[in-house]
Amino acid sequence: MIPRYVEPLFRPPAEAGSLIFQVAYGCPHNRCRFCGMYKGVPYRPRPEAELFAEIAAAGERYPGTRRIFLADGDVMALGFDRLKPILEALNAAFPHLARVNSYANGSSIAQYDDSELAALKSLRLQTLYLGLETGMQTLLDRVGKTEQITQMVESVRRTQTAGMRASVMVLLGLGGREFSHEHAVRTAETLNRMQPRLLSALRFVPVLGEPFEGFRLLSEAGVVAELLVLVESLELEHTVFRANHTSNPLPLEARFPADKAWLTAELRHVLTSGMLDETGPGFLPAEL
Ligand code: SF4
Repeated sequence: MIPRYVEPLFRPPAEAGSLIFQVAYGCPHNRCRFCGMYKGVPYRPRPEAELFAEIAAAGERYPGTRRIFLADGDVMALGFDRLKPILEALNAAFPHLARVNSYANGSSIAQYDDSELAALKSLRLQTLYLGLETGMQTLLDRVGKTEQITQMVESVRRTQTAGMRASVMVLLGLGGREFSHEHAVRTAETLNRMQPRLLSALRFVPVLGEPFEGFRLLSEAGVVAELLVLVESLELEHTVFRANHTSNPLPLEARFPADKAWLTAELRHVLTSGMLDETGPGFLPAEL
C-alpha cells in the first residue's frame, strides 16, 4: 500500500478526498493542553530519501491525483529549504496536481519571507489550516499554546496576500463558563482582523482533562450561546464558515457576509427550542 502511514493520522474533514503524505510525524510543539492529537508521538521529520521514493511510487500508481494533504501537525515548521523540494517532487510526480494543503502555526509561517511564500504558492501550496483557538492571549497562554495572536493575524494576512488561503480553526468552550463571553468577543475581533477565507468552529472536548485550573465545562446550550455571540460579532467580508466537525452540537455551514442574518436567527431559534441540554454537555465524542 502506497503511501504508508504511521498512526495516528489526522486530517481536516475537507481533506477526505485528498491523497495524504506524512512528511513528518507528530507536532513540533505538542504542548497544548486541550489537544491530544499527537501526545505520545515524538516529533520527527520523515527521512527525505524515504519520502521522495514514496512520492515517486504514488505518482505512478495514482497519476490522476489533484489534491494532496501533507501531514502531520504544523508542516510549515519544516522550513523553506525542506518544504520546497517536497512540493517540487509532488509537482513532478502528479501532472494534474491542483492543490497541496497542510496544517500550519502562525509562528512557523512567520519564518518565511514574502518571496518564499510566493514560491510555495507557485508550487501549488494552497490552503494552510491554522488553529487560532481563541483571540484571548491570556487564555491561549493558560492552555499552553505558545503562539502570539498578533503574529497569527500577521501570518494569516501574509499567507492570503501571497495568494494562498488560510483556514482558521477556533475552539468553542475553551474558556469554560468563566471566560465564555470574552473568549467569543475577542475571538471574533481577531478573526475580523485576519479575514480568513475559511473559518471552522470546533468544540473543546476535555479528552486530556481540564485545560486550566478551575475550568468549568460549558453546557451544550452554553456552547451554542457562545457561538451566537461569536457570530454576532463577526464582520467578515469573504469567508466560508463551517461548524460541521463531530464535536459540534449543530452541524452548520454559511457564507459571510451574506448568511450572517440567517445564521444568527437559526442559532437564536435553536437556543429557545428546548432541544439543547441546559445543564450538561450533551453528546461528546469520546476522542478527537
Ligand atoms: S493544537 Fe496544534 S500546535 Fe497544539 S499540540 Fe495540537 S497539533 Fe500541536
